[in-house]
Amino acid sequence: MSAPRTPTSALGPGMAGREVTLLGWAHEIRDLGGLLFLVVRDREGTAQVTLVKAKAPPDLFASARAIPRESVLRVTGTVKAEAKAPRGVEVLPTRIEVVSPAMSPLPMDPTEKVPAELDTRLNNRFMDLRRPAAQALFRLKSEVADAIRSTLRSRGFIEIQTPKILAAATEGGASLFPISYFDREAFLAQSPQLYKQMMMAAGLDRVYEIGPIFRAEEHDTHKHLNEVTSIDIEASHMDHNDVMALLEEVVVAAYRRVAESPLLPPVGVQVKVPETPFRRIPYDEAIRLAGDIRWGDDLDTRAEKAIGEKVGHLYFITDWPTDIKPYYVMPHPDNPRLSRAFDLMHPKMELSSGAQRIHDPQLLTQRIKSKGLAPESFEFYLKAFRYGMPPHAGWGLGLERLVMTMLGVENIREVVLFPRDRQRLVP
Ligand code: ATP
Ligand code: MG
Repeated sequence: MSAPRTPTSALGPGMAGREVTLLGWAHEIRDLGGLLFLVVRDREGTAQVTLVKAKAPPDLFASARAIPRESVLRVTGTVKAEAKAPRGVEVLPTRIEVVSPAMSPLPMDPTEKVPAELDTRLNNRFMDLRRPAAQALFRLKSEVADAIRSTLRSRGFIEIQTPKILAAATEGGASLFPISYFDREAFLAQSPQLYKQMMMAAGLDRVYEIGPIFRAEEHDTHKHLNEVTSIDIEASHMDHNDVMALLEEVVVAAYRRVAESPLLPPVGVQVKVPETPFRRIPYDEAIRLAGDIRWGDDLDTRAEKAIGEKVGHLYFITDWPTDIKPYYVMPHPDNPRLSRAFDLMHPKMELSSGAQRIHDPQLLTQRIKSKGLAPESFEFYLKAFRYGMPPHAGWGLGLERLVMTMLGVENIREVVLFPRDRQRLVP
């Protein structure tokens, strides 16, 4: 049996005199002639291993000096208090084993002493992710997902998994990835929309899914990828206002979790928990704030920025023209040109779209036709509306957009392990 592992985070002056085994990477080797500092890095941080030539066994000193950087090590030694070292201790080794050597030169420098271009980093993502700052980012992303999951579960939501290989488009033909499915054509799911709505007919009542969505977006921007993670919810007997309030709650829970996380300080950004309720801005007012948008047009990036600068914090755009939103959004009963659709906006970009949905099958069929789509391709979906479909509402929230805006990350690629864009399919 191997000795129990001591994470670097457990080291401290209180452990002086104890024998420990560190498992990690050779982060840095500083050879000062008679003195050698070996910095060992694990997920929790770094530790200093110190070898004094005059005192250490000669073999140990010579072999430590030759360790290639980024090799995986097992270091056994004794803890000694040392005020100048990280965590106030150093480890005096009795044994250093190279468990798995690293080739040199390295494809990039995970200590960030030599900064690398984004492309180089993404091409060598396994090594890029060894950077402590990158580790912190993905651990915070995991916290965000967990905070959202806990909030939804505490509100009675059930986690579901819907198919990602589909026969029909969810919202029309644009931005779909066709795939060959045996002798037929199929598509990668651009959203779980139709299936989560069908779960309302199934009686699951409140559902959520955290899963991939695929969008054949042609453009190359800092906020679009071709595969991202969507947090989707759908709830029966709720309207647009109910699910907007839930969205606020979920987003605030995510912000709070990150703001209070010990992982945040190493990232070096301030995260302020937004105040609720978020401002609700009807579409008519939003286009006035934006300037040159004609009524009935969608807001482009420039318009979103212009409004964002004026508002300065998270806000909703409500009461969208029915015709620029998907066929399943509920028109206002008293003014069907407008709908019960909303977007949640960060000053820099859209985070979420949602709405109360149409639950009447006749109206839904009519709306599908008016978009130039064939109701026959949606028969499996429409059928679920004919045998008792409760009124319902929901939204889809982009996990990566939430994380990047919260942490002030400029490029969405930074918050995706292996981003998929027009150029990038490997690794
Ligand atoms: P945008 O107009 O900003 O491209 P959208 O309105 O096409 O977004 P929706 O279909 O409303 O996106 O999807 C819901 C949410 O999913 C978006 O608000 C966003 O957070 C996220 N999302 C959708 N497509 C992408 C993408 N290609 N890259 C990153 N996030 C996306
Ligand atoms: Mg949208």
